[in-house]
Amino acid sequence: MSKASGDRRGGVEQRAGEVRRALEYHNYRYYVLDDPEIEDDQYDALLDELRAIERDHPELISPDSPTQRVGAEPVSELVKVSHLQPMLSLGTVRSEEELRSWIQRMRNFLAREGIEAPQFEFVAEPKIDGLAISLLYRDGVLERGATRGNGEVGEDVTHNLRTIPSIPLRLEMRNPPALIEVRGEAYMSLPDFAALNERQAAAGLSTFRNPRNSAAGTIRQLDPKLASQRPLSFWAYGVGAAEAISFPTQWGTLQWLRERRFPVHPDVVLLSSEEEVVERCREWEARRGSLDFEIDGVVIKVNDAEFQRRLGVVGREPRWSMAWKFAPTTAVTKLNEIGWNPGKFGDLHPYAVLEPVTVGGVTVKLATLHNEEDLARKNIRPGEDVIVLRAGDVIPQVLSPAPHMAERSIRPDRPQPPANCPICGTETVKPDGSVFTKCPNRNCPGRRWQLLKHFVGAMDIDGLGEKQVSLFMELGWVQTAADFYRLDPGQIEQRTGFGEVSARKLAAAIEASKRQPFGGVLYALGIEEVGEVTGRNLANQFRTIDALLSASPDEIEATPGVGPKMATLIHDQLADPQMRALIEDLRGQGLRFEQEGPPPGEGPLADKTFVLTGTLPNLTREQATERIVAAGGKVTGSVSRKTAYVVAGAGPGSKLVQAERLGVPVIDEDGLRELVDGRGT
Ligand code: NAD
Repeated sequence: MSKASGDRRGGVEQRAGEVRRALEYHNYRYYVLDDPEIEDDQYDALLDELRAIERDHPELISPDSPTQRVGAEPVSELVKVSHLQPMLSLGTVRSEEELRSWIQRMRNFLAREGIEAPQFEFVAEPKIDGLAISLLYRDGVLERGATRGNGEVGEDVTHNLRTIPSIPLRLEMRNPPALIEVRGEAYMSLPDFAALNERQAAAGLSTFRNPRNSAAGTIRQLDPKLASQRPLSFWAYGVGAAEAISFPTQWGTLQWLRERRFPVHPDVVLLSSEEEVVERCREWEARRGSLDFEIDGVVIKVNDAEFQRRLGVVGREPRWSMAWKFAPTTAVTKLNEIGWNPGKFGDLHPYAVLEPVTVGGVTVKLATLHNEEDLARKNIRPGEDVIVLRAGDVIPQVLSPAPHMAERSIRPDRPQPPANCPICGTETVKPDGSVFTKCPNRNCPGRRWQLLKHFVGAMDIDGLGEKQVSLFMELGWVQTAADFYRLDPGQIEQRTGFGEVSARKLAAAIEASKRQPFGGVLYALGIEEVGEVTGRNLANQFRTIDALLSASPDEIEATPGVGPKMATLIHDQLADPQMRALIEDLRGQGLRFEQEGPPPGEGPLADKTFVLTGTLPNLTREQATERIVAAGGKVTGSVSRKTAYVVAGAGPGSKLVQAERLGVPVIDEDGLRELVDGRGT
């Protein structure tokens, strides 16, 4: 070896040693102390670096390298237990390209085994960000629950796992196998995590960095009473060791688990092509922000157990399974200040001005704090570090103070709402009995901007967004929603950045919005408590604006989904002269203030109430609603005994569970079409 290459090698060897030591240290903080110092992507970058070094210099691989091991040695006082079958880690891909090359690698591997062109099916499951758990059932009874630990040896945490209500203590079956090990993820839901951090902060205790950490800390508590105060949940995703029972496919395993009453995520699907896998991963990524638990990716598994067996394990990772990882959604950053903005009805909404930070691949500078009550509960202070959450397309939000912030004894004052509206300067008020501070000025430009923004959104006017609304307000062209219908395309073109084509398009979109049905117009008006569903129900109930305007609160209360308080509030807002003037103005512009379709009591769906959940294959929610309403039915937002049908599509939420509980019939899109056409029952 020449001196130069010897030096180079020495340098690489030294670097490998450094990275290994760093990884070991961070493993310890993460797996043993549940108190990581660095973000996961920083850890992953170190691991990638070590993998690259070892790939180029295989002679440097040692059996104790962090690339060859799972987790870390547990050192708590919990009893150590050996796993009957090792609990492995997962390989990682971060892009479509990497995913496809993984599948190609499997094909190549099987080809060397003499299996040409294998027909793979895949199961795609959410990668829940919690910790892996093994549950051992002997003769159908839960005997032992353990953490993964270092993959070979974990910790006995049966006492705490028993406190998770969704973990069956007994298998739901007649002749249970002599032994079966169910595997899954214990996790803390986002609402439970936020509530726990709020409680910790209120008690002057340190908060947790993320839901995974608090779940890990909870599971490894010695005292089950403490664990039971911190709500944990569980999703099952596989079977480890088993006697006298075998599973030919992953899909079959999940079905079996479901039937034994283990919680298996309802959106896990069986897929038959690479394209479907890619599509599904992207779907999960887009949905990520709307889930009530954190996922850090999707796990893709080859369905066929025979293929799995042949593909085997490399290092600490099965070859037949892969994690498509998303960018992390939480980050810690400094809260610089809290700003306030009036909403449509004057309530001042707080927002966080942050030290810019990258979350989910995007730089975040502002985050919502929802409302005053939420802000108080979050117990955060300007000048301190906070945890920011940004998932999918959802607006970033501040989750809680960062760990160690809440336990400080000397902290800045709690942030308070301003004495004057930051937009119009009017003195703010806190109406009796309200928890929210308000800007009482109905002509506050901030409030008007919100109302106008809401109007263009609700009326679905393409080409009119926040920016354009601000611009038209600044130019003095738009004061009320009716002014949009008086805009002059020629003037728009001359005075704004709009070109001729886009000015014409905008004019056409504004004109088209006149065809919005009556219910949509009611929603767009910006009446407190009148959302999309209530708008439609009011339209169905009263049929014309004149009937609605002359209705008493009692009559309004007869509308589905409207209670007494709401009815009075709606009545009073409609009686307001400014609202009446706006309605007349819009009516003069040709907007629809009468309901079309059959009157109540007529049509195939007369008097039937529907609830929609999940995504239908062909109809959007609006289209489905329009069809139901056109056939004489009603749509409400929540399932009750009065609900005639729940229409469920892909990814249904708790409404489906509620329907099953109340025995409300559940139909799909085809079922709905049949009913609408008068062919169904
Ligand atoms: P992993 O991310 O490699 O994936 C394996 C784990 O995925 C399983 O053990 C299981 O817990 C989980 N999982 C979730 N849903 C699953 C499903 N449907 N099917 C199968 N498994 C599922 O887990 P790992 O080996 O613990 O990887 C290390 C992770 O921990 C990385 O994200 C890494 O960034 C992080 N880490 C961070 C630090 C730090 O200091 N920040 C230190 C160590 C590790």
